[in-house]
Amino acid sequence: MSGIVAIIGRPNVGKSTIFNRLVKERKAIVHDESGVTRDRHYGECEWNGRTFSIIDTGGYVPLSEDIFESAIREQVHIAMDEADMLLFVVDINEGITPLDRDFANIVRQSKKPVLLLANKADTNDKLVMAYEFYELGLGDLFSISALNGYGTGDLMDKVIEGLPDEVFPEEEEKIPKFAIVGRPNVGKSSFVNAILGTERNIVTPISGTTRDSIDTRYTAFGLDLYLVDTAGLRRKARVHENIEFYSTLRSIRAIEECDVALLILDATQGMEAQDLNILSTIMEHNKGLVILVNKWDLIEKQTNTARDFQKLIEERIAPLSNVPILFVSAMERQRLLKALETAVEVYHELHRKVPTSQLNEVMQAAWTKHKPAAVRGKFIRIKYVTQVGASIPTFLFFTNHPTLVQESYKRYLENQVRENFGFNGVPINIFFRDKN
Ligand code: GDP
Ligand code: GDP
Repeated sequence: MSGIVAIIGRPNVGKSTIFNRLVKERKAIVHDESGVTRDRHYGECEWNGRTFSIIDTGGYVPLSEDIFESAIREQVHIAMDEADMLLFVVDINEGITPLDRDFANIVRQSKKPVLLLANKADTNDKLVMAYEFYELGLGDLFSISALNGYGTGDLMDKVIEGLPDEVFPEEEEKIPKFAIVGRPNVGKSSFVNAILGTERNIVTPISGTTRDSIDTRYTAFGLDLYLVDTAGLRRKARVHENIEFYSTLRSIRAIEECDVALLILDATQGMEAQDLNILSTIMEHNKGLVILVNKWDLIEKQTNTARDFQKLIEERIAPLSNVPILFVSAMERQRLLKALETAVEVYHELHRKVPTSQLNEVMQAAWTKHKPAAVRGKFIRIKYVTQVGASIPTFLFFTNHPTLVQESYKRYLENQVRENFGFNGVPINIFFRDKN
């Protein structure tokens, strides 16, 4: 599971339409009221069993005249450095515009694979118009219509082909990675520095002045691990509007590669759409999760402040539950080791296996107490359950009608597993298999 594909091109060629067509329907967290769906310019794609992340560059630059050109130009540079593949989009109806040429000149210097997409090829008679774009000298040309889906299948085949191979490191050398992620300025590098007890990065009050992402090897609570600090933005993003774009690319990469993500929030700001976007990425990639509410020193506390705050977060992340939430202060070094210890626990939970007999004993009580509802006159019986070896805890429930089990019952079983066996902060899979 890896690879980042960036969609680039001048405004109005159809980048966000392409993005919306390619990105997989979001299964995890979709809060209409929070604007998560509206604001999100990156997501996960799946094609032929391979998943990768896709990012729509244009979305990060507001359409204001003065910064516009330099900002999108810079985005192309950042995308060229950070992404694994570029999709360069042009409008088949408009032919090559001067801005297309500018972009092409930049992109041609890239060593990354580039596919040229002539979008808005809604009808066959448009296809001949695509040949003009060969003049840009950018290799493979695809005519597509983001509107009706023409050509997108071939395109996805080509994307998969061009992405770097997935690497599965040997078991021995696989050292767990803990990624520190969050919006700019929430205190990621302060947290890492405080943990490491050194000023490895340069922390200053100005947003994004720390250095690039660096992995630091560390031993904590008996575990040899890498802390991956995703702070560090200024060097690459000179234009302010691109700080978020750059940090997003960095975060996606770090999340893809990590085992456990420590999502840092700013206590003075609560949980916003951008935080939820990062959270969705963590969920989509099936990673372990700990939420750290940082700058807790700045909050005026009364008796129930922490509890109320926690409830607020839990409401926002529903239906996700059982996620450890800690209130920390990087500045005053409060509960930092507890945070790390919790992350280590989450890591162990990812790989914990419940003995089959114990699992069945407990879960049998659960499905006997609350039986699945009959569907279309058919009684559903769960026979037994087993946990299989997988990258996240995965439970197979054997039943006479695997396809008939309702979503709500699946959730019930998941809740029962969590209630009885923990698995805090880790995603779990529940599958049904046929057994008469
Ligand atoms: P962006 O600025 O590059 O992200 O472009 P948008 O995705 O916002 O699209 C700009 C306009 O082109 C919108 O009105 C889209 O509906 C339209 N558009 C996008 N893709 C297609 C397409 O394949 N065919 C046609 N006819 N219109 C499209
Ligand atoms: P990053 O962009 O997420 O890496 O954030 P930084 O670590 O650079 O921190 C951004 C700002 O928040 C800096 O001015 C820090 O001094 C400040 N900061 C970080 N952690 C805390 C904290 O726990 N309490 C307070 N009061 N300020 C903090």
